[in-house]
Amino acid sequence: MDAHLPKETKELAKKHRFKSLKRVDLVPDQLLDPTPFGAQYGSLENGLTYYVRCNPKPQMRAALALAVKVGSIFEEENERGIAHIVEHLAFSATKKYTNHDIVKFLESIGAEFGACGNAYTSFDETVYELFVPIDKPGILSEAISILSEFSSEIRISEEDLDKERGAVLEEYRQGRDASGRLSEETFASIMKGSKYANRLPIGLEKVIRSAPAKIPKQFYEKWYNLQSMAVIAVGDFPNTESVVELIAQKFGHIISPEPPIISPGPKIPFHGETRFSCLVEPEASGTTVEINWKMLNDEPKTVRDYKDWLIGVVFRSALNRRFTKISRRKNPPFFVCSAAEVELVRPVKAIQISSSCKEKSILEALTSVLTELARVRSHDFSEREISIACANIMAEMESAYLEREKMQSSTWRYQYLQHFLRDEAVLGLEFEAQLFKSILPQLSASEVSRYSEKLRMSESSVIIITEPRATVTEKDLKDLLSETNSLEEKGKISPWEDDIIPEEVVQVKPNPGKVSEESEYQDIGVTELVLSNGMKVCYKCTEFKNDQVIFKGYSYGGYSELSESDFLSCILSSSITGEIGQFGYKPTVLEDMLAGKRAGVYTELGAYTRSFIGDCSPSDLETALQLVYQLFVTCVEPDEDDIKRVIHIVEELIRADERDPYSVFTNRVTRIKYGNSYFYKSPLVNDLPKVDPKKACEYFDCSFKDPSTFTVVIIGNLDPAMIQPLILEYLGGIPKPSEPVFHLKLDDLKGLPSTPPVNVVREIVRSPMVEAQCSVHISLNIKLCSETLLEEMWFATFLSQLLQTKMTQALRFKHGEIYSVSVDSNFGYSKPSKTADLEGEITIEFSCDPIVSSALVDIALDETLHLQEHGPSEEDVSTVLEIEQRDHENELQPEEDLSQDFDKSGLLSSCFRVNYTALSSRASSE
Ligand SMILES: [Zn+2]
Repeated sequence: MDAHLPKETKELAKKHRFKSLKRVDLVPDQLLDPTPFGAQYGSLENGLTYYVRCNPKPQMRAALALAVKVGSIFEEENERGIAHIVEHLAFSATKKYTNHDIVKFLESIGAEFGACGNAYTSFDETVYELFVPIDKPGILSEAISILSEFSSEIRISEEDLDKERGAVLEEYRQGRDASGRLSEETFASIMKGSKYANRLPIGLEKVIRSAPAKIPKQFYEKWYNLQSMAVIAVGDFPNTESVVELIAQKFGHIISPEPPIISPGPKIPFHGETRFSCLVEPEASGTTVEINWKMLNDEPKTVRDYKDWLIGVVFRSALNRRFTKISRRKNPPFFVCSAAEVELVRPVKAIQISSSCKEKSILEALTSVLTELARVRSHDFSEREISIACANIMAEMESAYLEREKMQSSTWRYQYLQHFLRDEAVLGLEFEAQLFKSILPQLSASEVSRYSEKLRMSESSVIIITEPRATVTEKDLKDLLSETNSLEEKGKISPWEDDIIPEEVVQVKPNPGKVSEESEYQDIGVTELVLSNGMKVCYKCTEFKNDQVIFKGYSYGGYSELSESDFLSCILSSSITGEIGQFGYKPTVLEDMLAGKRAGVYTELGAYTRSFIGDCSPSDLETALQLVYQLFVTCVEPDEDDIKRVIHIVEELIRADERDPYSVFTNRVTRIKYGNSYFYKSPLVNDLPKVDPKKACEYFDCSFKDPSTFTVVIIGNLDPAMIQPLILEYLGGIPKPSEPVFHLKLDDLKGLPSTPPVNVVREIVRSPMVEAQCSVHISLNIKLCSETLLEEMWFATFLSQLLQTKMTQALRFKHGEIYSVSVDSNFGYSKPSKTADLEGEITIEFSCDPIVSSALVDIALDETLHLQEHGPSEEDVSTVLEIEQRDHENELQPEEDLSQDFDKSGLLSSCFRVNYTALSSRASSE
């Protein structure tokens, strides 16, 4: 069914721009094409559905999936958690593959190990995914063969199950923190009255601990039928036929038992009365209010449905714009608030408005949300608000459309998964872009505003509030509801007043600068300019993406230069100026000015550098460079209200941190690793009065003041004729200050103040918790020699990978005590230098049952010592190199990070120095 694929050549496709794309005549009853766009799609005689598509992005890779329409909702009470356990057992062993075979195979394709890394289980489905290289013969065939084994040959014995219980239990324990408990309670209160409410996929602890093997075995045999499965293969294949043949060969012989008759799906609770749920969680990260309006999750089937869906998108965009503006007012009722459509379970979705606010401000936040909905019902959005929303949505579609030929295989895989699991239409971006172009310009403000009728409190709504301490009762919420209702009925809600928005980002045209020096580096296609104001600019035209230009400007000198007395204020520079506006306008005003454009610039203040980073559409490059110009020539001018609002936000974040039982641990770890230095200390609420917001703003202004200290790199789909004039006008037009500002050379930079431990430190940190959890952090100091730095950086990466493999083998497979472990190398705090040695650390982190933590730390250290004393085996080295090679190839794919230009060479070194700090923690409820 390749007929759906566009037949244009690449050149033609590029010229086929969005603007010339024809609109379609809208026939409301016209059915959307139910066949998935661009796939060879069909089913085998045994009922298995398949989707195969040739897609060259990324090269020589394929994204595969086995989708099974079986999830936790199929479980009986004594089976709660079993669907997920079956997923784990798949990676443990099958009839043909032992655990060792599967792990070896995953390593050979550069994949992370196993269950939940390559699969997920939800209420309604279980999906196994593999992302495989196809440059070596046999890998694709083996990958499909493994998926075939998962469909019908998973081995489930008592021994297999016992080996996996520990990992699943640890996964369960990880979910028992404040946010896990809250999402469980929230979900249960939304779905109350349905079987879904009691079928969270992770299940019950007692089932995980003690269910006999016959239970998952029966579940697997009963529900895993080829009739409810699909294989999806999207990749850089020579043709689709051979892949379909491979699927038929690996799956065709399987005969599924008759599928069990599925009784009508679980009852879905809809209701006329609002439901309330007041949750109190002492470890909560904040105070939140959430309203859900439940509705059936029907996918659009006709053009009319599609239009209704798009109206919802426009409505939420316009509403969110109002919420953002409210959040930036004096004494705002909430910090953030936004509306979204979310899928709760396959048959039910919700329109969800969620906001977070100051402690004890629930009622203000809820009043504001309900009033805004009533305001839209009473007065409609303005035509201008709707045109801003439509322009932004259209700009996103334009960008997607221009990149349609470069869509990643994993994105296609996701779309076909949705087609199979949700009956979601896959229409292709060409047709969807046409629908957008035909529908959006016709939408009127009143048509969009009518959507607010769906968000009446009588429409299956559930209000959920979360607080660290109870301050609000259900009765308070009910009273508030009837108050706002009666205001709306009496017509006492006033219309919305919108801001006045300037037309141009740059009010006075700058005086363009000149080129002082120009060099061409033809071998890498880079042009380098030194401008008359001293700024250095390098650019390169690329065609990796059609609709993207990215740039970064950086200068040496950052927080490490600050004195201790300035540090506290200046470290808050980014947060404070980000809220007030860094480009000469308030953020909400700037957002309106940029409506319909794709141009973003953000700033980063770091320990050793200051930078600005931009990402835009080639057609909006001028706007993006105007933002950089504004960043340098304007000052952040805060008023008292702005400052009060920002300090409130910071205070709330600090309080959340203080409630978090893990902050005791992270603070202690930092203290041990770096000493009692101001730089690494988290600020306390008591520190806030010492913050000088004016100083924070001044520091920010000085950080982006002197163009002569900045080097800028611009790459992307640049117009060679336009790039220099734009650079000269907006970057060259930045005036150079009379005195240099923060003019620092690389070797003049100050190092961060820290005093690392001289001996091995091993410590247990205790923190009271609602439910016992434990996190382990082991840090090993390493030092890389400057002469061989590049090579040793790779050694550090290889070593981390090798340690991770060893730790996984020991802690997960041999002892069955952990879910996962991560090993990383980190040089973040080290001063950049071309001549000095580089100091950093390798960290090992995992979570586990508090009772076994010390024993597991011993095992981890033994593994490390063993490796130090005996070095890696040949097999270890080749496995690590294979994983790293695959990883490296994935990163080298053109559309990925353009700054990756190292070549991999060398073998694993055993030269990391023995000077390690081992830390372990135990945190438990006492
Ligand atoms: Zn899992």
